[in-house]
Amino acid sequence: MAKRDYYEVLGVSKDASEGDIKKAYRKLAMKYHPDRNPDDKEAEEKFKEAAEAYEVLSDDDKRGRYDQFGHAGVDGMGHAGGGFSSMEDIFASFGDIFGGGGGGGSIFDSFFGGGRGRRQANQGASLRVNLSIDFKEAAFGCSKTIDVKRNELCDTCDGSGCKPGTSPSTCTTCGGHGQVRQGQGFFVVQTTCPSCGGSGQMITDPCDSCNGQGTQPKKATIKVRIPEGIEDGDQLRVGGEGEPGPQGGPRGDLYVLLRVKDDPFFERHGNDVVCKVPVSYSQAALGAEVEVPSLDGKLKLKVPSGTQPNEILRMRGQGIPLGGGRRGDQLVVIQVTVPKKTSSEHRKVLEDLAEIEKTEVNAEQQGFFERFKKFFD
Ligand SMILES: [Zn+2]
Ligand SMILES: [Zn+2]
Repeated sequence: MAKRDYYEVLGVSKDASEGDIKKAYRKLAMKYHPDRNPDDKEAEEKFKEAAEAYEVLSDDDKRGRYDQFGHAGVDGMGHAGGGFSSMEDIFASFGDIFGGGGGGGSIFDSFFGGGRGRRQANQGASLRVNLSIDFKEAAFGCSKTIDVKRNELCDTCDGSGCKPGTSPSTCTTCGGHGQVRQGQGFFVVQTTCPSCGGSGQMITDPCDSCNGQGTQPKKATIKVRIPEGIEDGDQLRVGGEGEPGPQGGPRGDLYVLLRVKDDPFFERHGNDVVCKVPVSYSQAALGAEVEVPSLDGKLKLKVPSGTQPNEILRMRGQGIPLGGGRRGDQLVVIQVTVPKKTSSEHRKVLEDLAEIEKTEVNAEQQGFFERFKKFFD
């Protein structure tokens, strides 16, 4: 497949400044970030493509070669030739760009709070929880507390797993190397020591509180800040709120899968909020000012005269917040209602109306009846 122009990939002009390039890349990286697009191959490709473009255009030397010779000029330099082989590769190279702060004030800054480097071998387990939030909370962002049960370092032994006053001894199976060699002659395979699990140490006097595990399950209450503009299925990563790592390793992360509850009034379509509003026949025909629900409370909406059933009226800037003070729109679908019961007064007026409408058939009806007649001819 032919490669796209790097400037085109980032959506910047040929004379874009270093800052513009960084900003453009950051925006794309946020959009196609795997945390936000789990199991989405297309997003992953876009993410990699943007990273490749950024790698070249953010480097004066490579950018110069690219400007002069195109893709051929940077082939084989770093990742640019074959692209990035893995996502981890990208995080290792540009992890800092996800570190929040500055930039365009992206709404997803807090997704990547602690940066994201290569996962360390002794990092603790990551945890996953689901969290339900209301439509409005998702739109405007909110603070929530989540209760999680996670393993914490044992208070008695401080995570060592040894009875207080004792210390672990060297593993007798591997002699403290953590690895064992198996096989003979040429075919020697080195594997993690089965006795000590690679730590090189053995607990001879296990701690009574945790049975030598070094951890105990505990309940933790974690406060999370949910950014504005969340969609159902978005995932939030809270860095360092997973379980503690073995041998003093860093904690894992907490992943919060956000589920947005259905709302009685609103539905989300992209950045717009859609709601249905009932009006009477006379309001639709004559025009009226009606009260409609919005994310910001009740608002007045002018229904122009001659509004048709299911016509959509747009209320600019009343939709989903997009960051930087910008917002989508609210779309109001007009539902013309017919009364089920009529008072005698109501009835009288409608009967008069029916008389008038009998003689003044409107243009649309005329067209319909003409087609109707033709159909049966
Ligand atoms: Zn213990
Ligand atoms: Zn061992």
